[in-house]
Amino acid sequence: MKKKTLRSLPDSQLCSKRVLVRLDLNVPIDDSGHVTDDTRIRASIPTLEYILKRGGRPIVLSHFGRPKGKPDPRYTLQPVADVLESLCGHRVVFCETTDTDEAIKATHELPHGEILLLENTRFLVGEESNDEGLARTLAELGDLFVNDAFGAAHRAHASTAGVARQLHPAVAGLLMERELDYLGGALADPKHPFVAILGGSKISGKIDVIRALLPKVDALLIGGAMACTFYKAMGYEVGNSLVEPDRIDLARELIDTSGTRLILPHDAMVARNMDDGSNAHTVKRDAIPADEAMFDIGPGTAQSYARAIASAKTVLWNGPMGVFEKPPFDAGTLAVARAMADSTDHGAITIVGGGDSAAAVTGARLAARMSHVSTGGGASLEFLEGKELPGVAALDDA
Ligand code: ADP
Ligand code: MG
Repeated sequence: MKKKTLRSLPDSQLCSKRVLVRLDLNVPIDDSGHVTDDTRIRASIPTLEYILKRGGRPIVLSHFGRPKGKPDPRYTLQPVADVLESLCGHRVVFCETTDTDEAIKATHELPHGEILLLENTRFLVGEESNDEGLARTLAELGDLFVNDAFGAAHRAHASTAGVARQLHPAVAGLLMERELDYLGGALADPKHPFVAILGGSKISGKIDVIRALLPKVDALLIGGAMACTFYKAMGYEVGNSLVEPDRIDLARELIDTSGTRLILPHDAMVARNMDDGSNAHTVKRDAIPADEAMFDIGPGTAQSYARAIASAKTVLWNGPMGVFEKPPFDAGTLAVARAMADSTDHGAITIVGGGDSAAAVTGARLAARMSHVSTGGGASLEFLEGKELPGVAALDDA
């Protein structure tokens, strides 16, 4: 079901209105409280700009870290307010509470052209239990609701799903709309050839995605440690590689039912341990030494995956091809990222989902060359599994 969007509202529904906006400002910070990756803050700005330009007054809600339902100074959104202000060029007023009379008063007093950021929603007892009373109180903070927190949409919390049931219109923000368009478009109506690449450490976390994608894709390329569970199912020895023994039968079933669409790496980059990169070498997949482990796809596989990506019209990638945090085991991941960037240039729709894959693409400075890099790790996975996201389901139907 298509959802109503911020862009579909007439300007009169925004002008002078208190627009309660749920963002995902859950950015990483270091020990001294400095934001180390501001991607999610930047990704939220277009929606705020859109509202401000039409005379709306953005009242922002977000979660931050895992403070367990009570105030914890380590998880205050205050430092995020400062970063948001410097990135968007509008004054950001920070309110130290969220569901109080003081907060409601602050929403009414917010001057035009400024943004109000309320304190961390996870300081509130009823947030994660999606308490209806809390949702009703949050609804008093605005005249309408915009959910732009795609990264939190897979959780039915008071500030995501709950408030959307209490405050209308309840619509998707620009980022949410973009995420749903790209991910939803790839699933519903992909241009063929449609190539999906799945990697990462565990097959167990991605099994439902594999199942959901297999009938839709022309090729599903496997990388990461999960290739080794498939190898086991094929009868190969994998040395000390990461294997999920309880998923070997499942891997065998997937190989048997997928025809030629499921493609596994034919060579592997192996080493004694992942900190021993200087001794890394390439072997055929049936020759992984007993005292070594696969930490990346091999160069031959990287080349053939790059060729498949080059010939695709839609490319969807989730999960690194190897231990990309430790060169030289980043080679396969970089090869996929570069091939996708080139493919975008040649007109393909290229989509990256998954926290670590997105980090790899950003680290390689290739994010701008993808059609879309999803801001939601868990949310994008659940979406690709075909699940309905509660934060989306609660919005008004278009
Ligand atoms: P994403 O966040 O993109 O969905 P995952 O969280 O599923 O990706 O997987 C990322 C992790 O998988 C990385 O930390 C990476 O080091 C690890 N990984 C990938 N390949 C291997 C491998 N062959 N052996 C061990 N770990 C691996
Ligand atoms: Mg991850």
